[in-house]
Amino acid sequence: MSHVISDEVILDVRDVRRTFGGVIALGGVSLQVPRGNITGLIGPNGSGKTTLVNIISGMLRPTSGTVRLKGHDISGMPAHKIARMGLARTFQVVRPFANMTVLENVAVGAMFGGANRRSASEAMEVAGAVLQKVGLEARADAPAEELPIMDRKRLELARALASKPEVLLLDEVLAGLRAGELEEAIALVRSVSETGVTIVIIEHVLRVIVSLCDEVVVINRGRKIAEGPPAAVMRNQAVIDAYLGHRAATRHSGAADA
Ligand code: ADP
Ligand code: MG
Repeated sequence: MSHVISDEVILDVRDVRRTFGGVIALGGVSLQVPRGNITGLIGPNGSGKTTLVNIISGMLRPTSGTVRLKGHDISGMPAHKIARMGLARTFQVVRPFANMTVLENVAVGAMFGGANRRSASEAMEVAGAVLQKVGLEARADAPAEELPIMDRKRLELARALASKPEVLLLDEVLAGLRAGELEEAIALVRSVSETGVTIVIIEHVLRVIVSLCDEVVVINRGRKIAEGPPAAVMRNQAVIDAYLGHRAATRHSGAADA
């Protein structure tokens, strides 16, 4: 892979637990992400992936355990402070500011995320450059609510990139894309990685994980069940069982598989 991976563990999650009432969403998960790496986070629905992203990004406090970003303990720190330290995330459910244009939506990310306070005009400039990067410049002046799904995903990525993050957490940002769009999206994520951004990506399409990731971490029912290079992880029996068990269960209940 062409991106540079360093020895520095930029994101260090240690034994993170999170409960909601009686529900154990995370039962003690650890993961170490080297700077420059693309790490895949996979697992059946309800396994705790989004909860982990919420804890890392400061939207939720861990019940116990620690999260370190660039060596600093950020466990339980508010989201805006973590953002200022260089971490950005996308949301699984994309909700752009409806009565703003595409450019304005991204400019908000440029003004309020990230390490540097920017004036409105600087933010607009950054936003314009980021829109070009994600291929959305032609829609800059369109109302955000009018965008079709692929463009909404681009906007969500652009909003996160506008804060110039060192670490980017992508929570199913590629979900719902068609095959052709998926290839485009993979290339886009790869190009972001090539600028040096460390990426943690949650994605259900395993082909995407295999083609993008240096390392994969698999969680099931709030616990890590496997980690390593994608090819090895996909052959892991516990991983196969977790996915097959999940498929069987959802088939039974008539629910669509993720
Ligand atoms: P995933 O992203 O892997 O699908 P989640 O992290 O969203 O899984 O959910 C993990 C578990 O935690 C699920 O059982 C879910 O219902 C529960 N959960 C997540 N967020 C909350 C919350 N805010 N309140 C109560 N339960 C929650
Ligand atoms: Mg989720």
